[in-house]
Amino acid sequence: MAKKHGHYCKVCREYKSNESFSGKGHSAHICKKCAVLSPVERSKEMTLTRLMNLPYRLSAEQKAWLKGLQQDKCSEIAEAAKVVYAEHFPYAERNARKQQLHISEMTFVVQDELWDEFGDSFDAQIVFILDRKTKLISCTQTGVSNTIELTAKEMRKLLNRIVNEYEVFCWEEDFSQEMPDVLGEDEEESTVIEVSEDEEHPSWSVSVSYSSGEKQQMKGFDIPVRVNELALDLLQYFENDEDADDERPDI
Ligand SMILES: [Zn+2]
Repeated sequence: MAKKHGHYCKVCREYKSNESFSGKGHSAHICKKCAVLSPVERSKEMTLTRLMNLPYRLSAEQKAWLKGLQQDKCSEIAEAAKVVYAEHFPYAERNARKQQLHISEMTFVVQDELWDEFGDSFDAQIVFILDRKTKLISCTQTGVSNTIELTAKEMRKLLNRIVNEYEVFCWEEDFSQEMPDVLGEDEEESTVIEVSEDEEHPSWSVSVSYSSGEKQQMKGFDIPVRVNELALDLLQYFENDEDADDERPDI
């Protein structure tokens, strides 16, 4: 008989030797170890086992089960379900936060090279300040300040875009690199000095206030694509001052 893999226990979901089952346990598919558990513990074990054995691609039914399980009255199950859910849907939490975050004010500073839409780099020393209430965006570049006023709708769209598309509230999580100050001892001294200088001059920094009262302060030491694109996005508001045509000039 092909019983080499032993006998299956439906509680711990393991194949175990025949000796691991009592006579009754055999037919009930519960091993001796699981048989001594109370019904409550046994059902908890079964739930946790099922949770850990969920396939990568969930059926609608499994997804609904997993979702509901996060509210389970057994905290161990609820916690485990949350972990598994976050593994399966890494952006769910992020997307849920987007619904709640509304920027009131934001200051965005860039002090590094940026790339324009044609791939050319240029040195940027820019401070942008956005204010939902006054609908003003100001842009200070090499000591020169410009301010423009958007309509309420335009400002709302821009601030929503900064949350939903640029995901500014995740920049810390996404872009913050630990400064490599705990490198090997064979590391040269010059590198260490360079690092500490960098720390004082981040490539970008942003401080955001949300309508909820929450505040964020973040900075980074290189220019990720999303940071670059937000800077270009904001710069666009200050470009068409003189020439009225939107066309890119033929050079
Ligand atoms: Zn078992």
